[in-house]
Amino acid sequence: MKHIFSSVAISALLCLALSPAIAHEAHVHGVGKLDVAIDGAQITLHLDTPLINLLGFEHAAKNTKDRAAAQKMALQLRNASKIFVTTPAAECRPISVKLASNAIDPILLGESPTPATKINATAKAAVHADLDADIVLQCENPHLLKTIDVNLFAKFKGFQKIDVQMVTQKNQLAATLRPSATLLSWE
Ligand SMILES: [Zn+2]
Repeated sequence: MKHIFSSVAISALLCLALSPAIAHEAHVHGVGKLDVAIDGAQITLHLDTPLINLLGFEHAAKNTKDRAAAQKMALQLRNASKIFVTTPAAECRPISVKLASNAIDPILLGESPTPATKINATAKAAVHADLDADIVLQCENPHLLKTIDVNLFAKFKGFQKIDVQMVTQKNQLAATLRPSATLLSWE
């Protein structure tokens, strides 16, 4: 009995090790990681990307120009239905957008500051920095939702590739998006 248990455990481990879907992506410039979960009327998106893909730099916003660029980027992401363009008939709208970065002050990202999250712009310059976006879209007609066009490439020139993991009520799939292939479809 004990022997059976350990072989099950070993094959599970092998699956984990061999599945590229589960492998954790490192910080690679040009590459983003997007998790999409569709559950009923809600689409939950998590984007994890090097900051450079969005801003062209990864340091803290030091001057007026940097701060303006960070604010513009945040506003574009907050206009989430223009970034993640869903089937029009499904009538999906963003109900929540949360942005976080280890280099950019939450205030510039449109988040309310807390002492714990306040970034000191004069603190050590990070070599690399990321941005995490958590977005929830709510759909009026979820049964009409067929596709999501990921507009990140058009809005932000730094993206070359986005690795997508997607979970729907029916299945689970992985996709690689590129500037020439931005459409997520399933079923
Ligand atoms: Zn970097």
